[in-house]
Amino acid sequence: MSATHEHVIAKDLQSWIETPAGSDFPLQNIPFGIFRAPGRTPRACTRIGDTVVDLQVLAEAGLLAASGINKEAFHQATLNPMLAFGKAGVRRLRTTLCALLRDTNAELRDNTALRHNALVPLAQATMLLPVAIGDYTDFYSSREHATNVGTMFRGAENALMPNWLHLPVGYHGRSSSIVASGTPIRRPMGQMRPKPDEPPVFGASKQLDIELETAFITFGGKPLGQRITAAEAEDYIFGMVLFNDWSARDIQSWEYVPLGPFLGKNFGSSISPWVVTLDALEPFRAAGPAQDPQPLPYLQVPGPHGFNISLEATLQPKGGKESVICRTNFNYLYWSMAQQLAHHTVNGCNVRAGDLMASGTISGPAQDSFGSLLELTWRGTRPLKLRDGGERKFLEDGDTVVIRGHCGNNGLRIGFGEVRGEVLPAE
Ligand code: MN
Repeated sequence: MSATHEHVIAKDLQSWIETPAGSDFPLQNIPFGIFRAPGRTPRACTRIGDTVVDLQVLAEAGLLAASGINKEAFHQATLNPMLAFGKAGVRRLRTTLCALLRDTNAELRDNTALRHNALVPLAQATMLLPVAIGDYTDFYSSREHATNVGTMFRGAENALMPNWLHLPVGYHGRSSSIVASGTPIRRPMGQMRPKPDEPPVFGASKQLDIELETAFITFGGKPLGQRITAAEAEDYIFGMVLFNDWSARDIQSWEYVPLGPFLGKNFGSSISPWVVTLDALEPFRAAGPAQDPQPLPYLQVPGPHGFNISLEATLQPKGGKESVICRTNFNYLYWSMAQQLAHHTVNGCNVRAGDLMASGTISGPAQDSFGSLLELTWRGTRPLKLRDGGERKFLEDGDTVVIRGHCGNNGLRIGFGEVRGEVLPAE
């Protein structure tokens, strides 16, 4: 892996754009997204505090030339053209933006007309999907989650399958139903078998759930037939988003043997709009759980490859109060992103710019750190108490779920914002 710290923006730098205390988006973050606003076509942007910075406007004014990225890349409705410039290009772009938006730089700050054109209040912006997602893979990399689900579905004896501690288990999902934060999710219809000694039935899912996950987005990989090693894997990762992998447990538990997740999963997943780069997360790098048994050599990579990211999920009934239902951490994950990508490509499978790889539900050891209602309510047997007196076994129509995530230490906070979705009744 290349030396990364030179790409971290120093903690004491500040922007001339107002950054509210406790914001997820100080100058050190510089995430990337796609937005539209009145009078503006969808285009690339970054964010400082509660201000969206229009990269098309900056590129047209020649202010991003030092990044080496063609200005046309910022005119598009996806970040994919920007991803073609790879990790080196995105690093140059963040360095260029940091210099331009620093409090000591007058170039844009004191150019009133250009500044007014380039800065858009967040409230006027609609955030869209940041990338055109090609392929989507969901891993299953939380040992606590896999153990909980395995215990419920197969019993404590068979909770972890024999392969689980030797490879990052995953499956190929569908990208077509991945939606931007704020898009409502319709309760799916499907086939279930609620009573094991009676025939299956068709209807609306009664066990609609969340999965608290993160996901990473890739740069273009290597040609088909070549693998990305664990040591070089992070050079192929553009950044991370929050991910809610909505799941219908009753459909899932009936359909999943022998080929795994299918219609219980592919009716919708939501992602947060701001892609946070690994360089922005670098100060929060941390060692993940010890791995025993030692993985095979192709999955071994020296140094810490986890990140200390605090995550929470909240549930708000329609017209009711928001209750925190889960607090967990990215660093509970047993398998790192580097190991996931190395495993994914070890057979020669190629990844392309804009592919999305999700972590799997992130659960910790404590009961309130479980990343799904399935676990939080132990398959509905321990209903969750909400702040306004209600209870939940699974999601009800009108419920809004929000996942938030941030890193913090020594006065530096880097966050993701949120991913949000409301459950609509079945149709
Ligand atoms: Mn999932």
